[in-house]
Amino acid sequence: MIIKKIQYYIFGWLLLLGTIAAAEQLQPDARPLIVTSIKPLAIIAKSAVGDAAEVQYLMPAGQSPHDFTLPVSALRKIADADLVIWIGGGFEVRSGKTMSKLSSDKLLTAMDLPLTQPQNPEPSENDDHSMEADPHLWLNPDNGNKIAAEIQARLGLPLKEIINRQYLSQLKSELAAIDDKTYLSHHQAYAHFAAAFDLKPGLSIRNASGGAQGAKTQYRLRSSIEKTNVSCVFVEPQYQDKDAAIIAAEYGLPLVPLDPQGLSQSMSARAYSEFIGTLVAQFKACFQ
Ligand SMILES: [Zn+2]
Repeated sequence: MIIKKIQYYIFGWLLLLGTIAAAEQLQPDARPLIVTSIKPLAIIAKSAVGDAAEVQYLMPAGQSPHDFTLPVSALRKIADADLVIWIGGGFEVRSGKTMSKLSSDKLLTAMDLPLTQPQNPEPSENDDHSMEADPHLWLNPDNGNKIAAEIQARLGLPLKEIINRQYLSQLKSELAAIDDKTYLSHHQAYAHFAAAFDLKPGLSIRNASGGAQGAKTQYRLRSSIEKTNVSCVFVEPQYQDKDAAIIAAEYGLPLVPLDPQGLSQSMSARAYSEFIGTLVAQFKACFQ
């Protein structure tokens, strides 16, 4: 008798749960879904659309976007998305095949937009691929605004900048005091950032794709460090940075954290503005 009662009780609960699940399926999130490859693009998208769309990103924290492979769950999200945003085949090399199958109205390739490129990229002394374009284009706020405008246009939303010019000139003046000093970064990721804020391009241990440099380049890097006024070595949270730690110890330079992927940035309509502000503050910490 008691067992029977328990059975009815469980059955009742299952029925109720089933009804709730069915009701939820009838009312899916009616907003468009934007899926981005990396978090920086999600930060831009969220800032561009606010609550008018749902924004998700595919790359898990702690991975390098340069050699990220899309898992099966990502393929499902891409299929469900109304708009997919990625940097482009020169950056997310392993996603190219999946992205090329999407229709042009569903895919936004940031690299294909008329973005601001770093002016006359002088071949730096420690660079194997000096003519290669720096794919870290989200680090120039001009480009952040341009990508945001494209997203807003595609969704039929009013055009609105995601970082305002007054704030940018304030950040620029904060960085003006350090333009005679230089820095060493783990990989060559800051050409866009340096161009946007009138900074000298720094030295880097690895190339723009995060790959190790050849022996000749490493030799040239060491002689550049000895010749120039390097203030610190920037390390990024998603890398192990063993090579950076070795060089920092060798030259007695402090390691300073810098987060160009915005891994600790919360997602809100102000996310991009906060992300750039945080990056500038982290950058300044090198020279204090
Ligand atoms: Zn990178």
